[in-house]
Amino acid sequence: MALTGQAKAEYQRQYMRRIRNGSAKATKRPTCSFCAEAGSLERLLVGDQTCAICEECVTLAVARIAEARQARS
Ligand SMILES: [Zn+2]
Repeated sequence: MALTGQAKAEYQRQYMRRIRNGSAKATKRPTCSFCAEAGSLERLLVGDQTCAICEECVTLAVARIAEARQARS
């Protein structure tokens, strides 16, 4: 259900407050979708604002896949 009138105005006020507080998505630093760590020079992120994976999680995923492949053969 779309917000209208006063409810919409209140939602927008809260949204602007969250942006000022730095808790809204628009101002959030990109983080890994898997471990929630922020990207840095030591922890590169691959992806975008919606979905990203860090090199730590890529390493874990590769190891996990290798394990699964080995178990299968
Ligand atoms: Zn990660």
